[in-house]
Amino acid sequence: MASQRSTLDVDVAVVGAGVVGLAVAAILAPRCRVALLERHHTYGLENSSHNSGVIHAGLYFPADWLKTRLCVEGNRLLYQWAEAHGVRHRRLGKLVIARSEDELPALEALMRQGRENGAPGLEMLSPGEVARLEPHLRCAGAFFSPSSGIVDQMGLMRSLLQEAQAHGALIAFRHEAVGLERAEGGFRVAYRGPDGEEGELATAAVVNAAGLQADRVGALLGYDPDGGPANPPFRHRFNRGRYYDLVDREKASRLRHLVYPLPNSDRTGAGVHVGIDLDGNVHLGPDTEWLPDGAPLDFRNDDSARERFLQAGRAFYPDLRPEDLAPGQVGYRPKLQRPGGPPQDFLIWHDRGYVHLGGIESPGLTSCLAIARHVAGLLGRA
Ligand SMILES: Cc1cc2nc3c(=O)[nH]c(=O)nc-3n(C[C@H](O)[C@H](O)[C@H](O)COP(=O)(O)OP(=O)(O)OC[C@H]3O[C@@H](n4cnc5c(N)ncnc54)[C@H](O)[C@@H]3O)c2cc1C
Repeated sequence: MASQRSTLDVDVAVVGAGVVGLAVAAILAPRCRVALLERHHTYGLENSSHNSGVIHAGLYFPADWLKTRLCVEGNRLLYQWAEAHGVRHRRLGKLVIARSEDELPALEALMRQGRENGAPGLEMLSPGEVARLEPHLRCAGAFFSPSSGIVDQMGLMRSLLQEAQAHGALIAFRHEAVGLERAEGGFRVAYRGPDGEEGELATAAVVNAAGLQADRVGALLGYDPDGGPANPPFRHRFNRGRYYDLVDREKASRLRHLVYPLPNSDRTGAGVHVGIDLDGNVHLGPDTEWLPDGAPLDFRNDDSARERFLQAGRAFYPDLRPEDLAPGQVGYRPKLQRPGGPPQDFLIWHDRGYVHLGGIESPGLTSCLAIARHVAGLLGRA
């Protein structure tokens, strides 16, 4: 073991410096030698900086799913981390609303699901209580989730990076993992560096936290993304989520809490909602739109969804006008779910030192520290 160890560069190589890869590096670095490879020049440039920044409570999926367990645990861990590391956040609280009487049974069912999941403090509100919390909001009914909040994603990632570095993790930006193979003592990770030069890293374990690209990185090791005797299916299909910013200041000052409709019936998304960021800016979104296979993932907003957002936004602002909206950010959900198919759980799959993190869409930001602990457990580093 000792001689084997000496031939390895590190104990764990993490691919991808989004919020999940960074959390894994931060949790593992005090326990073993970690290298983190990121293809871009810095961290968090993909999904981890193109999302609602919401700390979710764990309402939307069945109690025994990883998406639920890791979200409920991750919510608690994230608030603790943010407080301990000075990361900006606010426990704003969130209202989930029924827009009409016929949505009330589904609203009650969602609250029951949330309670069963262990989301703390959920409470059905009377019309008077809704009016006290949000005097401008019109709805047929609502429940309140006090543990929902918002976090500064970039600040969170910076703190995770600093923690990993403080414990000696090697952080390699502009290093793209281009090959993976099993080798004596673990794995060889081939990478392409900043000037196009190629190199290799020997590691006992690999954590694939490549987000949207996790299926491609998994395939480097010889697994079949469509599943087979050696591995479960992990091919991603992409679903775009666009936002529009509410630029009318008067309207943007009306609501003080996160306000969500009921989720899409196919659970592709949580429904176009009112998001508030830490600077007080208000955003509507994200919508859901399946992309054809092979379509490019373009993070620019082409402003083609304004009409749809006007309709959805009038649930919260009945007098919303086209000029109140400006195109906002765009994110992509790496889905294991298929168009028209049932929702799928996170895929966290371990095979002899390789950990695959597939389908890490929402609530991946909320769950990042819980995912990291789970991964540490799988690698015997808990
Ligand atoms: C529209 C939208 C809204 C969302 N809102 C929320 C929310 O409010 N709350 C919440 O909890 N979650 C939310 N999420 C989910 C959350 O954003 C993601 O789950 C989370 O950011 C995933 O982080 P990640 O580290 O897995 O992936 P990413 O942030 O995508 O990071 C993956 C990294 O891997 C790198 N990489 C890829 N391939 C390679 C390679 N070969 N070599 C080296 N590096 C590589 C990429 O460059 C990237 O930096 C939302 C997601 C979307 C799309």
